[in-house]
Amino acid sequence: MKYYSTRDKNNTASFKEAVRKGLASDGGLFVPETIEKLPKEFFDNIKNMSAVEMATQVMKTFVGNEIPEAELSDILKDVLDFDFPLVEVEKNKFALELFHGPTLAFKDVGARFLARCLGYFAQQDSINSDKKQAETVTVLVATSGDTGSAVANGFYGVEGTEVVILYPSGKVSKSQEQQLTTYGGNITALEVDGTFDDCQAMVKSAFQDGDLNKKLNLSSANSINIARFIPQSLYYFIALGQKLETDKDIVLSVPSGNFGNILAAIYAKNMGLKIDKFVISNNANNTVVDYLNTGKYESRASVATLSNAMDVGAPSNFERLIHLYPELDGLKEIAEGYSYSDKDTLECIEDVYKRTGYLADPHGAVGFLGLSKSMESKENAIGIFAETAHPAKFVETFTDSQIEKLEIPERLLKFMDQEKVSIKMDKSFNDFKAYLMQR
Ligand SMILES: *Cc1c(COP(=O)(O)O)cnc(C)c1O
Repeated sequence: MKYYSTRDKNNTASFKEAVRKGLASDGGLFVPETIEKLPKEFFDNIKNMSAVEMATQVMKTFVGNEIPEAELSDILKDVLDFDFPLVEVEKNKFALELFHGPTLAFKDVGARFLARCLGYFAQQDSINSDKKQAETVTVLVATSGDTGSAVANGFYGVEGTEVVILYPSGKVSKSQEQQLTTYGGNITALEVDGTFDDCQAMVKSAFQDGDLNKKLNLSSANSINIARFIPQSLYYFIALGQKLETDKDIVLSVPSGNFGNILAAIYAKNMGLKIDKFVISNNANNTVVDYLNTGKYESRASVATLSNAMDVGAPSNFERLIHLYPELDGLKEIAEGYSYSDKDTLECIEDVYKRTGYLADPHGAVGFLGLSKSMESKENAIGIFAETAHPAKFVETFTDSQIEKLEIPERLLKFMDQEKVSIKMDKSFNDFKAYLMQR
């Protein structure tokens, strides 16, 4: 499979090159040359396959022969070693719980797949060259919390990779910070005196810096990397293709920030998975919902909300979305969009909890609101919203009575009494560059 840049069809890359580079050299995002429709036999047989067998068939169409099928299947066995339950919250409305992985958010899937791919390529390179040491890839990642913990967990101990995580000092939750700063080994946490946008800007500058690119093999672990966002289609195949029994229309609401998760679901539809309507659910950072309503796209500075993993003013995957649906009408045929305030979110958490006993996290609650709005006009449909993080990661948002219901998972507690190690850094690119040059 060939990939090319959203900004230039002639700027192509193999799967391996696209994964290694993260971002195309012209600043565009890599997209696959085609999104293959899976054959009828695949869907006839989908319920009889194991999740890993099924996932191998799906990912093969994107990886081609660059990772042999047996190895690809091994990688996917690691990636998909937790469940993705569909929980009926109320009649015909299901939560697709994506938070049962090691760091309690859906990003575990993409982060692990990316880490295992880079590890595989590094290992192959060391076998194929005389060098004892595999060529190391330095993975840079800016995080507002969830991405960093998933990436740290996914990459920890993976041969041939060094990970540098930049996070805004004092702006991530305590449990998130512990999950970023306690690994050691090939994981380094930089505690930046600035905002998430500052961290992101430092990473972007590093990719454009000639000296750094000469010295290091830089890669990105944000969802601009195809190996992070494409495997996110797998849990939709598992939940909607393998588990769900229905002939009704399927409405899928995804609480969105950088639009990697929903784009993976849209890829799944393009591969033939039955999803009849997408709901783009945004918090106050609603540039894409505005685009749907007005046809005008205007990125803006992000504003802080309770669903902080969706506080994105310039969603990086928007470029891939309009590459797939260049006409607004085409996008509107498959998607609706709604946005919600923090007040709406809190009311929804309380309302759903009171009526059903289900405790949604602030991101899932935004997804539920979008789904409910969309279902008002669809009498005979099944609705699903992505519950993207475990509520225990957002204890601060809940009332005392809600917290009583909350069970904090063991794996989250485990991080709390470990020693935090971080390198403090100014938000200046020059200091960051100097640090990377002397590593
Ligand atoms: C990252 C994240 C999102 C947003 O996902 P995108 O792929 O960036 O749209 C939503 N919820 C949670 C909990 C997240 O960590």
